[in-house]
Amino acid sequence: MKAAVVTDFGKPLEIQDLPVPVPGPGQVQVRMAASGLCHNDIHAARGDWPVKPRPPFVTGHEGVGPVTAVGAGVSSDLLGRRVAIPWLGSSCGTCKHCVSGREPLCEQQVNSGYSVDGCHAEYAVADAGAVVRVPDGVTSFDAAPLTCAGLTAYKAVKVAQVVPAEHVAVFGAGGVGHLAVQYARLVGGFVTAVDVEPDKLGLAHRLGADEVVNARTHDPVEEIRKAGGADVAVVLATAPRAFEQAYRSLSRGGRLVLVGLPADAAMNIPIFETVLGGITVIGSIVGTRQDLSEVFALHAAGRTQVVAESRRLDQVNESFEEVLAGRAEARLVLEFSTQV
Ligand code: ZN
Ligand code: ZN
Repeated sequence: MKAAVVTDFGKPLEIQDLPVPVPGPGQVQVRMAASGLCHNDIHAARGDWPVKPRPPFVTGHEGVGPVTAVGAGVSSDLLGRRVAIPWLGSSCGTCKHCVSGREPLCEQQVNSGYSVDGCHAEYAVADAGAVVRVPDGVTSFDAAPLTCAGLTAYKAVKVAQVVPAEHVAVFGAGGVGHLAVQYARLVGGFVTAVDVEPDKLGLAHRLGADEVVNARTHDPVEEIRKAGGADVAVVLATAPRAFEQAYRSLSRGGRLVLVGLPADAAMNIPIFETVLGGITVIGSIVGTRQDLSEVFALHAAGRTQVVAESRRLDQVNESFEEVLAGRAEARLVLEFSTQV
């Protein structure tokens, strides 16, 4: 099978011919129909984060397709069913985070396309307990970006506990942001989208953002504060500056939700303003299997729209460049037609 392989950090990925992976005990083998490209794949391929993957490895954690084989102990009922392979490849199932339905916090977790081979390949294997069924009403093409971008955006809005008529600022209106705008709207928020790319702001507006701010030409803090300040600011951008701006755009009692993961970044939070303003700072990392099922259910019911463009596996390096240059309007999805 063909797979996009990171051979060394910072080098272009190589399209290699690898043996089709065989599912081990408790695993399923999935033939990829669609596999999304997430900014975090680029961080993985560059070794940007403190805990690094070990090359060679296959990137990708938005893989969708039918189950083509099952390992020992897995029900054959799964064969032929479409599933999504998310970032959380497996978790221990017994720690306090796992048993309380917060498995993305598990310290024993394995991550698809990071600590194990991922989905930028014609086939992938995954833990049968970690994959999520894709309902018939959701195409594989749409399901792929929902598996990380959708899940991440949904969870960020959920942990912020947005209630109707609250003002929600979404910093970063691209792949994750275009979905965050929709989830914030779904729960009744007034949404301001902030970005530096006019195309992405246009997209956010089309998808229901009430206001848009181009941070290249206007100060988002001033614009948002002029309108009363944000009750919730969700930061999906990877520019460290956006985090400070999001903090300063909050009104008293505001919640700052950190989602984007810039390389080697820290943020300075003023203690005085945080205490007096009753500000809450929340880190939000992907979501659970239950969250992903909810994301799929909302999409199947026609409540969300996925904006994505199709690419081939052998375009993975140019696709990375498109994402880095901000040229992709929202999400890129590798589609597979070959059957190996
Ligand atoms: Zn991702
Ligand atoms: Zn655990």
